[in-house]
Amino acid sequence: MTVPVPVVHPPLLGGDLWQQVAVERADGRCECRTQCGNPHKKDNGACTRLQAPGRPLHLAPRTDVLIHRAAGLPAADLLALCLPCYDGLDRLRRKDRRAFADQATQPEPLF
Ligand SMILES: [Zn+2]
Ligand SMILES: [Zn+2]
Repeated sequence: MTVPVPVVHPPLLGGDLWQQVAVERADGRCECRTQCGNPHKKDNGACTRLQAPGRPLHLAPRTDVLIHRAAGLPAADLLALCLPCYDGLDRLRRKDRRAFADQATQPEPLF
């Protein structure tokens, strides 16, 4: 059986940037430091999952920005995350946004 050559598609951004962040800087290892909401206790607060064929790292902005802005961010503002961490972070941010939106739609008290 032949093992297929790992084809790792950049999920969101250009391949150059992805290469720079996920491969050159992160060395194929998830850069999550509990941002996803998982304390990663057994790994001392850092996710150590390596990317693998079919399971590439995903790039996420370090701070919550809208997706069309995220595409213009430099490598320094991006994190390379494994899928569970990316999903966790995404979930947390959605929750934050919802909470913020709920707050914003609260009617102003009249008195
Ligand atoms: Zn991770
Ligand atoms: Zn994580």
